Amino acid sequence: MKKQKQAVIIGGGLAGLSAAIRLQSDGFQTTILEKNDTIGGKLHEVTLGTHRFDFGPNTITMPEVFQSVIRHVGENPDDYFQFIRLEKHTKNVFADGSHLFFSSNKDRMIEELSHFDVYAAENYSNYLKEVKKLFELSNRHFFHRTFSSWKDYLSIPLAKAMLSARPLETLDQFHRRFFKDERVIRAFNRYATYIGSSPYTAPATFGLIGHLEMGDGVYFTKGGNAQIADGFKRVAEKLGVNIRCNEEVIKGHTKNHKLVSVETANEERYHGDVFVLNGDLLTQYPRLIDEQDRPSFSNKKSTSFEASISAFVVMAATSERFDLHHHQVFFGDDVREEFDDIFQKGIYGSDPTIYLCTSSKTDASLSPDGDNLFILVNAPPLKQGTNHEFDRFAMEQRIYQRLEEKCLPIRSKLIQSKVVDPQIMAERYYAYRGALYGVASNKKKDTFLRPFNRSQDLSNLFFAGGSTHPGGGSPMVVLSGQNVAKRIVKEYR
Ligand SMILES: Cc1cc2nc3c(=O)[nH]c(=O)nc-3n(C[C@H](O)[C@H](O)[C@H](O)COP(=O)(O)OP(=O)(O)OC[C@H]3O[C@@H](n4cnc5c(N)ncnc54)[C@H](O)[C@@H]3O)c2cc1C
Repeated sequence: MKKQKQAVIIGGGLAGLSAAIRLQSDGFQTTILEKNDTIGGKLHEVTLGTHRFDFGPNTITMPEVFQSVIRHVGENPDDYFQFIRLEKHTKNVFADGSHLFFSSNKDRMIEELSHFDVYAAENYSNYLKEVKKLFELSNRHFFHRTFSSWKDYLSIPLAKAMLSARPLETLDQFHRRFFKDERVIRAFNRYATYIGSSPYTAPATFGLIGHLEMGDGVYFTKGGNAQIADGFKRVAEKLGVNIRCNEEVIKGHTKNHKLVSVETANEERYHGDVFVLNGDLLTQYPRLIDEQDRPSFSNKKSTSFEASISAFVVMAATSERFDLHHHQVFFGDDVREEFDDIFQKGIYGSDPTIYLCTSSKTDASLSPDGDNLFILVNAPPLKQGTNHEFDRFAMEQRIYQRLEEKCLPIRSKLIQSKVVDPQIMAERYYAYRGALYGVASNKKKDTFLRPFNRSQDLSNLFFAGGSTHPGGGSPMVVLSGQNVAKRIVKEYR
């Protein structure tokens, strides 16, 4: 009888789980090695007393991407997690006190816009058509495939697709074609942060996020988004994936341009026919593989990428409920300056935009004794090679202070809080400079030419997750796990 092929996955984030489920169901005996005590990577539940929070993805789009992972192995996704569509999903509050609700109902949205910007209301249908086109283009040519070498770019349809994806226009310029009011532009420009970038440099290609949120819809998972990670874990275990938490990979052993085994901090060795690195490839590939064994990815190259945006997050458990929407954004006074501060100067904005997710507005059982406020301020990625001393307490107080000015007296109702900042993310997930989405998409090169899904030096080492193709964000990394697994199955069968 033919011996079953062994696959080893380094990291149990969404991309690792997605790859593991597909590989196991397609005949590979698969092991996941995860350094932390929980599975799901950046997506996991945080509990403070009776208050439950989702860390990581609070906004879920493309629900079918998550469902199809489970459907592919013959299971019913509804048995693992269920999505609720939030039609009127985001309340955008501007510095002048006015607010604009974002809704995936077109008529409602046109009505909302008409109070701000008659031009925008008139152009909204055209905007939706245009962003749908951008989505369909990427969906057809980029999302469902791996990029393993330069040869993969040598295709006429792909070149045409790249040129049609508006690479030369910025997201801000794109939005200005449809909207005139600065507040409306500001609200749509925030989509650049979903890919960890600035709207003044990221290409208009990412207008496609507008299709996901305003056309397709924003979703929340019943019981919290961490149910997705939990559902993936349950399916993986049911199929027979060997999931090992608290198992940190510290070294890879190579022979004849192949990775033969990996060694963990617990002094275990795991041998495999094929390996998938889900941990951030920018930090872990150089860490695990000796530089002489990866001439195509030198230490110098690994630090040359522009990191995506990071975040300062406060999870605040309160004893009372506040007048907030599920997703609510308080914009600062000068958003352009905030992006310049983050990306040019590497500092926090002086009047930062504050995003709050209060999932208890949709599912009160998540925090029966008050609200579960997930508060996020955009943060610059960590600077390379410097000492990152930062006063987290002062920053937390500064955020409460600003929210008090917006009539949200959180401090007086605070039971408990937990802070996560870029430094903590760099330490807990080994995220490149604490970035949320791996590489930023501020440059065309970094948008279309992310690090490949496969090592150029070790033929049986593949990459899945936010730093590689197709990009960061929960649906994209799940696709990346599926794409890599499909590629491995095709090649190794
Ligand atoms: C605060 C925040 C808000 C976000 N908001 C959204 C949102 O609203 N919507 C959205 O779609 N996305 C959002 N994201 C992004 C999303 O969370 C990520 O893109 C996605 O979860 C990344 O998944 P991944 O599998 O690529 O990586 P990770 O989740 O980082 O998983 C990699 C795993 O590898 C492990 N690992 C690393 N090195 C090793 C090693 N040497 N040995 C063993 N294990 C190792 C890590 O511990 C980690 O568990 C957000 C992220 C953050 C942090």
